[in-house]
Amino acid sequence: MSTRRPRTAAIIAVGSEMLTPFRVDTNSLYVTERLNDVGVQVSLKIVAGDNRGELAEVVGAVLARADIVVLSGGLGPTDDDVTRDAVADVLGLPLEEDPELVEHIRRRFEARRLEMPAINRRQALVPRGAIRLDNPNGTAAGLWIRTGDRHVVLLPGPPRELKPMFDRAVSVHLEPSTGGARVYRRVLRITGRSESHVDALAQPIYGPWASRQPSIETTILAVQGQIELHLSTSDERVAEAEARLGQLAASLEAALAPAVYSSDGRTLEEVVGHLLAARGYRIALAESCTGGLLASRLTDVAGSSAYVERGVVTYSNEAKTALLGVPESMLAEHGAVSEPVAAAMATGVRERAGTEVAVGITGIAGPGGGSVEKPVGTVFVAVAISGEQRVQRFDFVGPRSHIKYQASQAAMDMVRRWLLER
Ligand code: ATP
Ligand code: MG
Repeated sequence: MSTRRPRTAAIIAVGSEMLTPFRVDTNSLYVTERLNDVGVQVSLKIVAGDNRGELAEVVGAVLARADIVVLSGGLGPTDDDVTRDAVADVLGLPLEEDPELVEHIRRRFEARRLEMPAINRRQALVPRGAIRLDNPNGTAAGLWIRTGDRHVVLLPGPPRELKPMFDRAVSVHLEPSTGGARVYRRVLRITGRSESHVDALAQPIYGPWASRQPSIETTILAVQGQIELHLSTSDERVAEAEARLGQLAASLEAALAPAVYSSDGRTLEEVVGHLLAARGYRIALAESCTGGLLASRLTDVAGSSAYVERGVVTYSNEAKTALLGVPESMLAEHGAVSEPVAAAMATGVRERAGTEVAVGITGIAGPGGGSVEKPVGTVFVAVAISGEQRVQRFDFVGPRSHIKYQASQAAMDMVRRWLLER
């Protein structure tokens, strides 16, 4: 048996339904996470239809470029389940009936007071030399095949069968040959800066780590209204990995401050909630174009009743006047989407709620309603803390839902930054 440490993997999701608009492969995400845990990187993913010849070709091609090939699906008893045949074909291994597997399948049917259909015998066919992976949640056993330096792993499609099987198989068949190395991760979440801006500042800091030994890999991701820096490193020792990640994270935070709002997995709403709670402040919200999204996000956090006092959605001019005391003359003079109206919304709701902190949001979410001066995406956010107020204009782009989300994000970030100063 070879002792070469497997470093790369390819995943093949087998099933023609995943080549339609109706089904998506999610098994590979789980498989990837477990492989990463033991220091194996996924270098390739493929979705293949239920075609024996095609699948054999794909497996053959992938075997040349990855240490581990994981296939999921197509282990069932019907004619369109071709995974074991395709793998046996490409590896040149004969299929042999495993008597213990026949028994296992027969017993599962017996338990349901059914006779085993003849076609289910197919599921007891095993390529010569393959190790069986037991399936307590189904009839299809998984298979682990060593071929030279490489591993080929066959897993059933249903996630509740695949997950426990793969977990166990990784610890039994893979962990011993990975030298105990695991991947450790850290995510820096950043708001209020563009992806290119973040990368320009961050690349000189994280860049050199990629070629160091041991290295840290950094991925930059733009996710709705924010940027994420994903740091990952592989090590046998937790403390070493955490120290290394901590060092890079601290340098990045210093360079990007105060745009990094979390490096411990917390969401922006959690961070803002924590800052409010720590100061004993409560917050009130007056929302127009976000339609209550800000209130919804802040109250997604367990325990938010300690600091969220109220939120009002004042969509019409009448509501802004009746519920927040925004003067009709101000609405007529400046328009509902304006700096003074945002400020009047924030102070209006703060006075009525009696809170330390308040937010007012008014803007044009589109797609209609824009003008040259105030195009779609124009949003004014006002924050009032005690007697003071700050108002900012934002010019967002994108569809309606995205503009609403970005407005809620910007409002929370204004509150966060101001609270950090206090
Ligand atoms: P079975 O014995 O149940 O037929 P199988 O190994 O043949 O198992 P498939 O028939 O390919 O598996 O898939 C069974 C079900 O598992 C699918 O209907 C789908 O719901 C789910 N499934 C299959 N592949 C995936 C995947 N890559 N990601 C998520 N779910 C999947
Ligand atoms: Mg099937």
